[in-house]
Amino acid sequence: MPELPEVETIRRQLAPLVEARTLREVEILDPRWSRPLAPAELAAALTGRRVEHLGRRGKYLLWTLAGDVYLAQHLRMTGSVLADPDPEPAHTRVRIQLSRGRCLAIVDPRRFGTGELLLGGDAMEAFFAARLGLEPFDERFTAEHLRTLARGSKAPIKALLLDQRKVAGVGNIYADEALFRAGIHPRRPAGRLTGAQHARLREAVGEALQAGIDARGATIDDFRHVDGVRGSFQDQFLVYGRAGEPCVTCGSPVVKMVVAGRGTYVCERCQPRPRRPGARPAGRSGRQPAPR
Ligand SMILES: [Zn+2]
Repeated sequence: MPELPEVETIRRQLAPLVEARTLREVEILDPRWSRPLAPAELAAALTGRRVEHLGRRGKYLLWTLAGDVYLAQHLRMTGSVLADPDPEPAHTRVRIQLSRGRCLAIVDPRRFGTGELLLGGDAMEAFFAARLGLEPFDERFTAEHLRTLARGSKAPIKALLLDQRKVAGVGNIYADEALFRAGIHPRRPAGRLTGAQHARLREAVGEALQAGIDARGATIDDFRHVDGVRGSFQDQFLVYGRAGEPCVTCGSPVVKMVVAGRGTYVCERCQPRPRRPGARPAGRSGRQPAPR
């Protein structure tokens, strides 16, 4: 699924193509995309409006249109936006004709992508306030902020990173990459991280996302750039997708496990497994804690 770096990559490529142009014609071919509105209702609300700005909130593309109208577009699992594709791709769900002759196709084989109409800045802010925590690049996203989010939580730290209402934009890939960079096991209970670990994790989330943006995103399944080209960050993953391969830091094999319901990649030497409360180190009858 496209995460923050992939959506940001699309935004950067698409913004110069759409800003200051008008949505001449919008054809929504799949009623799932516009729900709860009917395709014709959403198309009527968008058609004729000038694109003032193309932004991003978490994993959403945020279209700011003339007249204080917004479109919150989510690509979900397999969505992409292609400019002037020829021929029109299979699985095109939305067709947009822009002024001065450009055409966009929103393509989505699995059909989970959505476009939601938001009328007015207040409605737009309320929509995101209910769904998204701070952006990891927000200056308020500090170690202290992470610590506040995690306080008292027994859930694994990976689950916290994946929760969009806590941290906007991080998904399965970048959560694993960030936890590896921070040397923190994804199963570690969020509320039991030390202050130093919160600080390292905050840094690591930013570094992992920035590396993904610099490589113009990762293509695992269907993610495409606006011109149809695949991202390249999948070639630079430190742990994600590397089960059985040597850790880039210590050479131990990377292992795959399920954490927070998701396939998760870990080097258990660089990211020591949390000890269960009350558990004794194996084979030592509790005399001395095993060295870690
Ligand atoms: Zn390692």
